[in-house]
Amino acid sequence: MKQDVIIIGAGIIGLATAERLLVQGAKVTILERNKAGEEASWAGGGILSPLFPWDYSAAVARLAGYSARQFPAWVSVLYQATGIDPEYEISGMLILPPFDGETARLWCSGQGISMQQHPAYDIHSNSAETHVPRPQDNALFLPDVAQIRNPRLLRALRSRVELLGGKIIENCAVNHLKTAHQQIQAIDSSRGEYAAGCYIVCTGAWSKEMLGIHAAGLDIRPVKGQMLLFKFDAPPIRSITVQNGVYLIPRRDGHLLIGSTLEDTGFDKQTTASARDYLLQHAQAILPALRGMPLKQHWSGLRPASPENIPAIGRHPVIRNLLINSGHFRYGVTMAPASAEILTNEITGASQPFDTTPYQAGWGKY
Ligand SMILES: Cc1cc2nc3c(=O)[nH]c(=O)nc-3n(C[C@H](O)[C@H](O)[C@H](O)COP(=O)(O)OP(=O)(O)OC[C@H]3O[C@@H](n4cnc5c(N)ncnc54)[C@H](O)[C@@H]3O)c2cc1C
Repeated sequence: MKQDVIIIGAGIIGLATAERLLVQGAKVTILERNKAGEEASWAGGGILSPLFPWDYSAAVARLAGYSARQFPAWVSVLYQATGIDPEYEISGMLILPPFDGETARLWCSGQGISMQQHPAYDIHSNSAETHVPRPQDNALFLPDVAQIRNPRLLRALRSRVELLGGKIIENCAVNHLKTAHQQIQAIDSSRGEYAAGCYIVCTGAWSKEMLGIHAAGLDIRPVKGQMLLFKFDAPPIRSITVQNGVYLIPRRDGHLLIGSTLEDTGFDKQTTASARDYLLQHAQAILPALRGMPLKQHWSGLRPASPENIPAIGRHPVIRNLLINSGHFRYGVTMAPASAEILTNEITGASQPFDTTPYQAGWGKY
């Protein structure tokens, strides 16, 4: 591909899109307002699946499922190329009641997704006794769900993009798109003017504001999520564990993440004592060993929320050299490799792996 491309925003989506385009031979520059990979993509939990997959539309399930299946090969390329291990791990996901068991079981069998019922006792039998949650009836275990460590994935991806010849320009806020004849001619940024043949907006929660009058009918807004981090000597549980919307993610080295809130508070990224107490209370009900443990870190991130969690991936309805890859809401890490593939196919004209019209519709009515 002999295309020169400017990508605005260096989160997981911008970096994954850059990598895919570079592999296809494009010349890629990424403009990032702050530092690469320090917003929502850094803040997330790295679960590679929707939390309750049966609650989402086919457009979400298809994109998330197809994307999650790409991770083993993708991560292995990143690791080999950069020496940075993103710690991909198939740890499984245990869903504790209450949830709609019948809907869940029907969905899993319809999608060919492996599941086990009443699994809690087996899953935790390797753990130290004091850390073992009580066995649960009516729990559901999805053994194939994997996880990734976001900061490591982002470091590996950044390094891979640079090794492939991509240019990442940080502290470079894009302020204005200069258009003429239904084309972007150039963009104004805090570091001057940049021009390319094609422009891709990957600015996550800030996409609508960044696009300004060119946002068409785009409906992306920030939804804050807060996370807590603890450190055990060894993983206190083996699997990602979810109950009442709160999840625990055990890392290999004993770190345990607890997430997350869904807060409609605009671009405010403050962490709050009430969210900390809420998360902790629910997490302790699942894992009593958390009582008395010191909190290691507490942070928040702004998810790019979109209607029904369906991201916008595709070409602007009027400005033909402007594309978007944004609005992945709760599952942008999971959806990153497939979203990069779909966007790249849109540019190269290659056929898509499945019907991508639901994502093109993200631009809304113009
Ligand atoms: C608490 C929390 C938990 C999550 N857990 C999971 C999970 O377990 N699994 C999962 O799949 N997903 C999870 N997510 C969702 C996932 O993190 C997001 O969907 C994903 O990170 C979005 O990636 P992005 O690249 O679009 O956005 P971001 O990572 O926010 O990147 C956007 C970038 O654009 C830059 N930018 C903005 N405006 C401009 C401008 N004008 N000029 C230049 N640059 C600009 C920003 O500085 C930023 O670096 C979670 C999110 C949060 C917050």
